[in-house]
Amino acid sequence: MQLTELSAWQLGDLIRKKEIRALDAAEAVVAEIKTKNEKLNAFLSYDEAVIRSQAEGVQEKLDAGQVLSPLAGVPMAVKDNISTRLYPTTCASDMLQGYLPPYDATVIENLQQAGAVITGKTNMDEFAMGCSTETSFRGPALNPWNQGHTPGGSSGGSAAAVAAGLSWYALGSDTGGSIRQPSAYCNLTGLKPSYGLVSRYGLIAYASSLDQIGPMARSARDCAAVMDCITSQDSKDSTSSDHSTAFKASCYEATTGFNISLKGRKIALPEQALAQVDPAVRRAVSETAAVFKDLGADIVPFDLPYQDASVPVYYLIACAEASGNLARYDGVQYGRQPDNGHEMDLTAFYEHNRSAGFGKEVKRRLMLGTFVLSSGYYDAWYLKALKMRRMIIDSYNEMMRGIDAVLMPVTPSAAPPLYQHEDDPLARYISDTFTVDANLTGRPAIAFPCGINAGGLPVGAQLTGHLLADDILLGLVHAYQTQTSHHEKRPSSARKGEPA
Ligand code: GLN
Repeated sequence: MQLTELSAWQLGDLIRKKEIRALDAAEAVVAEIKTKNEKLNAFLSYDEAVIRSQAEGVQEKLDAGQVLSPLAGVPMAVKDNISTRLYPTTCASDMLQGYLPPYDATVIENLQQAGAVITGKTNMDEFAMGCSTETSFRGPALNPWNQGHTPGGSSGGSAAAVAAGLSWYALGSDTGGSIRQPSAYCNLTGLKPSYGLVSRYGLIAYASSLDQIGPMARSARDCAAVMDCITSQDSKDSTSSDHSTAFKASCYEATTGFNISLKGRKIALPEQALAQVDPAVRRAVSETAAVFKDLGADIVPFDLPYQDASVPVYYLIACAEASGNLARYDGVQYGRQPDNGHEMDLTAFYEHNRSAGFGKEVKRRLMLGTFVLSSGYYDAWYLKALKMRRMIIDSYNEMMRGIDAVLMPVTPSAAPPLYQHEDDPLARYISDTFTVDANLTGRPAIAFPCGINAGGLPVGAQLTGHLLADDILLGLVHAYQTQTSHHEKRPSSARKGEPA
């Protein structure tokens, strides 16, 4: 049996039943990371000794009879914008090289209590701004399905790590699609939870009203098990929801039994979204609708509200919030400093630190964000974007009455070649067309594999649901995954022991 081919849930089961030891799983994953990471660039940091000592600690607790969680002892990876005391947290930026947080994010505390073994921190776009990991200070991660292509972004390192068998699941963050888009590009299931369900404490902020942490894994069942571990009401995050206890109860059922009936469920399919995408994506998503129909769901028509406005509204709001959030990287509170800082006046000091520390895309967004918040332009841009956001939220509330979920593509195409749109930011932003609405409305959305295109690259579908009904989305995708095997396909580079 090859451990790296199991799902997180299956591996956790073997560890719980003492059929294998947590250290065996840790050794298997260390061997894979050592053979493949240099090429794939999925991890920015990992440490064999730290991985082994966590596994030993978990095993001791299990041997002492402690009940931890279904995922105890299962090695997992964390995106590099989630604060950890075990490893540096750099947001893939020169600005934060070497920064070791003095505290753990709430999700990390929750995972450690659940017996997680953290393998390392994964590559990403700088400060989570991007859709390819190309803006990472340490260079892009590669897609294990085809190394000439992007694994997606911004949580691309997490996706590459799980797809290539370098971890059984990973945490990502999703501000406008960064969990779902790389999951789709790498044949994974990834959930952007409802806003407030998972604590953001310790997540380095990009755009606080849109950011959420969530799971990326090989199935909906694995995602449910991860959600069961990371969800909690947290007094350190003022937007944290009190729904977490109820949610965890249904998630636990989800990971143990999980039988949601699709009879009478209504799944909406917006034809206008299908008209805008590659034929292979259109075909795969239409076939997904047919599977849901066979399972007993009614497929009903739907018009995505204000679709042309979504991407501009998202970028205006995200950049405006980022310009405030990233003001703290000035070389005094956080961030790099020059050796000769004492010779500069304060303005020159800030200017030097921020010019040298941030990459091109981050600077572009901070300038846009500062501009739309400045007096004289605020009403015309930022305020208008806020009003449009309200209209998008209201339309979804109205149109989703009586509908359980909206089915659509995750992206217009499968993973593009690396650096395809290097000099054309607008072309890159357009690929977020189908993902940003979930963040603007706070709704949960899940990406899941639904086929492989003629070029051998995975294609994903997406379901968007009702606020705090994330368990329904997990249940619907689990039902789909019991009927199909797309999610079980692995890239050939994931074979054990072979270099990537
Ligand atoms: N691609 C989007 C952006 O560049 C989404 C990023 C994210 O979700 N972190 O902003």
